[in-house]
Amino acid sequence: SAPKILISACLLGRPVRYNGSAKTVLHPALAVWQQAGQLVIICPEVAAGFSAPRPPAEITHGQSGPDVLAHTARVQDTTGADVTAQFLTGARAALALAQDHNCQFAILTDASPSCGSSHIYDGSFKGKKHPGIGVTTALLRAHGVQVFAETEIDQCVHLLNQWEQKKFSSREK
Ligand code: SF4
Repeated sequence: SAPKILISACLLGRPVRYNGSAKTVLHPALAVWQQAGQLVIICPEVAAGFSAPRPPAEITHGQSGPDVLAHTARVQDTTGADVTAQFLTGARAALALAQDHNCQFAILTDASPSCGSSHIYDGSFKGKKHPGIGVTTALLRAHGVQVFAETEIDQCVHLLNQWEQKKFSSREK
């Protein structure tokens, strides 16, 4: 069957971001995959029980998703609440869904403390980003899922094609 791709709900127009907005991305590959039923949609933060809007959260002290998984960093929101447990719950929900659908690839919204894959906010709540990844991305990558940002859909298409060709040629042997 056709490969499934995990995707951030806000990229598909769902208004689930902290500020109640979407971050819709228009790309021909997304339209094709959606038509073919290949997209597996999740917002890890909504899956963890957050509503939209909600106070924005950051991984604090300049750290990154893997540190949260290792319990050496926390996630806090602008009210000062510790939301680490919820972010871990959301990440586990995304991983479980990805595994249920055998997703080898994910396209997630960059800069989010859950979904970021190249940059995240640095935990100072001053709108500053630094290189790092979100908690969901960290957990997915730790389990071998290849995570791309919404700006990297072309790379994802390319790798997915290669992966399918390999699968096809190994079946031919
Ligand atoms: Fe989008 Fe991910 Fe944030 Fe949900 S957690 S709003 S899917 S970036």
